[in-house]
Amino acid sequence: MKLHNSLSGRKEAFAPADPKRPTMYVCGPTVYSHPHIGNARPAVVFDVLFRLLRRRYGDVLYARNVTDVDDRIIAAAEQQGVPIDAIVERYTAVYHGDMAALNVLPPTIEPYATRHIPQMLAMIARLIEQGHAYEVEGHVLFHVPSFPAYGRLSHRSRDEMIDGARVEVAPYKRDPADFVLWKPSTPEQPGWDSPYGRGRPGWHLECSAMVEAHLGVTIDIHGGGQDLKFPHHENELAQSASVHGGAPLARFWLHNGFLDIEREKMSKSLGNVLLVHDLLKETRGEAIRYALLAAHYRKPLDWSRAGLARAKHALDRLYLTLSQLPGPNEPEPSAPAPRGVLAALEDDLNTPKAFAELFALARAANASDDPERRRKLKAELLAGGQLLGLLQENPETWLKTSGQSALDAAEIERLIDARAAARKARDFAEADRIRDQLAAEGVTLEDRAEGTRWRRAG
Ligand code: AMP
Ligand code: ZN
Repeated sequence: MKLHNSLSGRKEAFAPADPKRPTMYVCGPTVYSHPHIGNARPAVVFDVLFRLLRRRYGDVLYARNVTDVDDRIIAAAEQQGVPIDAIVERYTAVYHGDMAALNVLPPTIEPYATRHIPQMLAMIARLIEQGHAYEVEGHVLFHVPSFPAYGRLSHRSRDEMIDGARVEVAPYKRDPADFVLWKPSTPEQPGWDSPYGRGRPGWHLECSAMVEAHLGVTIDIHGGGQDLKFPHHENELAQSASVHGGAPLARFWLHNGFLDIEREKMSKSLGNVLLVHDLLKETRGEAIRYALLAAHYRKPLDWSRAGLARAKHALDRLYLTLSQLPGPNEPEPSAPAPRGVLAALEDDLNTPKAFAELFALARAANASDDPERRRKLKAELLAGGQLLGLLQENPETWLKTSGQSALDAAEIERLIDARAAARKARDFAEADRIRDQLAAEGVTLEDRAEGTRWRRAG
């Protein structure tokens, strides 16, 4: 298996340090509002990697944290006039619901930042003791020049980093690149007692402390969006390696590319922020997931209505094939994943190639008239879909609910019954009229010995 490692800037052969239990940490959401479609990209991408690792190694320790202390959370609580806990609770539940609708599996563990304050304070104490951090005016800062490898992950020069971080040049900083490990809280802000006064942790420290607490000193994979590479991941790396005598925080660093909307950067000021919650009102979760995986994870993804429609259409075709093939509609747990799909994903998560492989299987199944082969190809399609977190619905249900028709399923079935009654009464004109009416609504009928089946035309 090969994965692109941001540290080297190259694809490298991947093997976990402990083949019985690979470890992966992905920076999770800051829970202060509804996740947008860009936030869903890392969740979905690393869910595919989680599924792939599970298939290969069995047991995977995958942690995705919840950042539940942050200035944006404090601001949201103030704005809505509710306690911070209410914001955290509400938007954590929203995040879980939205991600579940995209078939994102829960991670093995989901640590919350505020439940790891003692571990963070212990890490700060060790950093101060070792000369990597210093206390000044209620703050504790990490001293960047104490870690000569700083910048190695983001491949930036010192000047670029100072500009890029847009660090406020606080007079108490010994070096402009130094960053906060602990900062003071006002009485209204959330805070914890510490040797440096009442305060709260810096964001970067949270992840370092939670990785150490749950996964160990050096993990196999650390992931997140490309915007996190600098400064967040560079800082996590510096803190953890410093406190652990130089031992690396992660062997592989993976970063997903950014998502734009109709070729524009998604931003509040442009008013084009697309929430998963709103997309789910008009589209199926699997179609959103397919559209997110239709580009390779490291490439930029241009989100568009047309792209989403293509994703939906692609799934309609796969479900139509599944509905016509013999055999169960659920993947058998022991069914091997199709080799082509597996090989594509094991080559740095090449999801576009994996999709092409699914279509090759569907074409082969459609072209075959050997029931045994058709059954086998269906099982493979389902197993490949499962690895990608797709094709998890009953094909008939998908096809019945997938079109844009104004008729709901109950109404369609009522018309089908009326048509059957007309035919029984030998009123063929009426039966044909109903069939045409349904066709005009995009519903096609198929008369079978056991009754009439229907689906919406993709
Ligand atoms: P946040 O909750 O703002 O810390 O972001 C959570 C995750 O979403 C991070 O891994 C970000 O890198 C990722 N993210 C935010 N915006 C986008 C975007 N437009 N495209 C891809 N990933 C994004
Ligand atoms: Zn992090």
